[in-house]
Amino acid sequence: PLILGIESSCDETGVGIVRGTQLLVNAVSSSMEEHVRFGGVIPEIASRAHLDAMVPTLRAALKEADVTLADIDAIAVTSGPGLAGALMVGVCAAKALAVATGKPLYAINHLVAHVGAALLDESLGAVSPGDLTAGNDGGLVVGNDGGRPGRFENIGALLVSGGHTEILRVGSIAEDVELLGSTIDDAAGEAFDKVARLLGLNYPGGPAIDALARTGNALAIKFPRGLSVPKYMGTPAEPGPHRYDFSFSGLKTAVARCVERFEAEGQQPPVADIAAGFQEAVLDVITAKAVLACRENGISTLLLGGGVAANSRLRELAQQRTRAAGIRLLVPRLSLCTDNGAMVAALGAQLVMRGVRPSGIAFVPDSSMPVSSISL
Ligand code: ATP
Ligand code: MG
Ligand code: FE
Repeated sequence: PLILGIESSCDETGVGIVRGTQLLVNAVSSSMEEHVRFGGVIPEIASRAHLDAMVPTLRAALKEADVTLADIDAIAVTSGPGLAGALMVGVCAAKALAVATGKPLYAINHLVAHVGAALLDESLGAVSPGDLTAGNDGGLVVGNDGGRPGRFENIGALLVSGGHTEILRVGSIAEDVELLGSTIDDAAGEAFDKVARLLGLNYPGGPAIDALARTGNALAIKFPRGLSVPKYMGTPAEPGPHRYDFSFSGLKTAVARCVERFEAEGQQPPVADIAAGFQEAVLDVITAKAVLACRENGISTLLLGGGVAANSRLRELAQQRTRAAGIRLLVPRLSLCTDNGAMVAALGAQLVMRGVRPSGIAFVPDSSMPVSSISL
């Protein structure tokens, strides 16, 4: 089926068009630049930017794919989780298109769509792992048979971005998705952005810290690993309350105190060492817990998604640890890891192909839509 997907949950206005698992176009307009001076996404600015970008992005996508609205079999749109006002813009656009064309409409879960991105044929480019430095748009498959996910059943997903940090178990992408763990405070990308600010780096902080950390010593200053002590972790037989969960606000505070200590003594803080130590603390926990969750839930394939998947050290650590655990690692192309409409269309195509009923047009976007709800 030919599916049009619309994404507007955060600061990217995305329109993607797919035919089954074939990607035709992935048009994205981002308002990231407009948020730079605030050091984070401002919801009202994001909503207004979506309003400006929606129709041009839609037109550009249709033109590039060389299809008309009449050719489309169904429309898919992100209905949550995300920023309420931002979601509303995409949902209104999708409803208007559905009413005008009479095409079925699917209200899609944004997090599950991140997983759906890996179903696209071109998501995993043939790039050798050594080439996978930040900024390279190639995808990655490491381990086991090195092939595609096959039936794409029973896989784990580590989603890390500015808005979320989750470990999912995907039994079947159309009907069985479970949240294994998530952050109890800041998202991982948000922690990168906040710490970058403390270190005097520009927004978005992720790429800046990634680059700076490469010149620092990650062992010079040891930062806390959130929710990693036995009290929270428990044991395999008796899991603690936060075995697969994350917390980054204590780490952020530890970085702030560290910077203050140097300044109080009239010294320049060693920003490269701090960046490297902070980054290692975040990535150590997320990769360790993701691998643990896979092992304890009989999962043999781990997928990375979200903007933080661009991080070079995350890719390195994830490769090392999945390889050691005999788990296959999938990292889609960066343009499919960050927010985009193609992943929404990809999930929509799966639902259509599996005969899932459309959502109608009466649904309302749900800013805290749970992952167990794949579509509304
Ligand atoms: P959502 O949470 O809805 O997916 P978002 O816009 O917050 O939306 P993305 O666009 O997927 O998330 O990713 C942006 C985040 O990724 C920012 O927090 C940014 O700092 C982080 N990021 C980007 N590149 C890197 C990197 N190399 N290392 C670490 N973090 C990175
Ligand atoms: Mg974004
Ligand atoms: Fe996202």
